[in-house]
Amino acid sequence: MPDLVVVGGGVVGAAAAWQATRRGASVVLVDARAPGRATDAGAGIVSPETEPRDASPTHLLSAAAQSFYPELIAALEADGQTETGYARCGKLVVALDDEQAGWLSAYLEMLRDPERAAAPADPTTLHEVDPAEAQAMFPPLAPVTGAFVSEDAARVDGRLLERALLASAAARGAVIEHRQVERLADLPASDAVVVAGGAWSPALVPDLDVRPQRGQILHLAVDDPGCGRWPVLTPLTGHYLLAFADRVVIGATREDGAGFEPALTAAGQHEVLTNALSVAPGLAGAPVLEWRVGLRPVAGRGYPYLGAVPSSGHDHVFVATGHGPTGLTWGPWSGAAVADLALGASSEADRAVLARFAP
Ligand SMILES: Cc1cc2nc3c(=O)[nH]c(=O)nc-3n(C[C@H](O)[C@H](O)[C@H](O)COP(=O)(O)OP(=O)(O)OC[C@H]3O[C@@H](n4cnc5c(N)ncnc54)[C@H](O)[C@@H]3O)c2cc1C
Repeated sequence: MPDLVVVGGGVVGAAAAWQATRRGASVVLVDARAPGRATDAGAGIVSPETEPRDASPTHLLSAAAQSFYPELIAALEADGQTETGYARCGKLVVALDDEQAGWLSAYLEMLRDPERAAAPADPTTLHEVDPAEAQAMFPPLAPVTGAFVSEDAARVDGRLLERALLASAAARGAVIEHRQVERLADLPASDAVVVAGGAWSPALVPDLDVRPQRGQILHLAVDDPGCGRWPVLTPLTGHYLLAFADRVVIGATREDGAGFEPALTAAGQHEVLTNALSVAPGLAGAPVLEWRVGLRPVAGRGYPYLGAVPSSGHDHVFVATGHGPTGLTWGPWSGAAVADLALGASSEADRAVLARFAP
């Protein structure tokens, strides 16, 4: 009988399984790899220090992710898992007209507040840059009216991170099964169960208000040897661009009400391209590599569900889902923290954070 069964092998379930094996637990992870899984499509921005949602408990997740990420990457490297696409590349936030320049200043002032839970340890890592510097940092950029940089921001490849977590967990004995779980009662007997099923979680834990939000996202080939060092680029419009060694990823739509259909649409592609080319017209000639589409697990209450699920009828069922557009950032910490909780191995500090996210 395994100590822990994890349902779902996206970034959250993979982190839960990984952490449990680091605690010496025996783990079975069951994952259906549903078409449209969010982790496969996620852009990869990891910038908890620029998360603006200070008024909700999510600022606690941003602070936890901020300290956990370097530890996570180092631990994976120590396990021989060096391919995660992770790099501390910085983030460039830009204004495209005078009105946006005013918003940009207010945003920077808010981020610099040292009282924020996710405020950077060194405030000088958040600073303005002039338009020419911004252009040099991200060459395809349009003329801008203002810009600032957050040096702490990073990017990660969700697919590679998940693969690294699962490979590391498997090397410590985790058993990974690819199949659909129809009911919790069908799972092998275990001490505890963590449901990390992304947007599909309510099929197993019906009381959760988690819904799919479709995101269409484009990968363009970029023939520039320096491209892997470009910062994440965010205008103030909700769209973004980020670079890996051979490509720029531009996204993304946020479509509520599209159900579980991971379809690419004409309107979605039009929206993504129109926004990206208005901020980075220098990409107009870049070849299209691929479109991806994923279903973000969005929690109706606005922040994730993390913890025990008394209503499941089982006293050993836990859930970790509802990370919405920020799951590659928060998910590794919350998956690991819920696994610790399920195994009775969590610290008092982690339990205090998790208490704010109880289902
Ligand atoms: C276009 C897009 C861009 C994004 N960009 C970013 C970003 O830049 N930064 C960021 O932090 N986040 C980003 N996100 C959000 C992030 O990708 C998600 O929040 C995160 O990947 C969710 O991970 P998950 O493990 O909860 O779910 P998923 O990755 O969807 O995985 C859930 C898994 O559980 C399995 N499963 C579910 N139910 C069952 C069952 N009953 N039996 C067996 N298996 C089951 C599914 O098949 C699936 O494999 C983005 C998302 C999208 C779509």
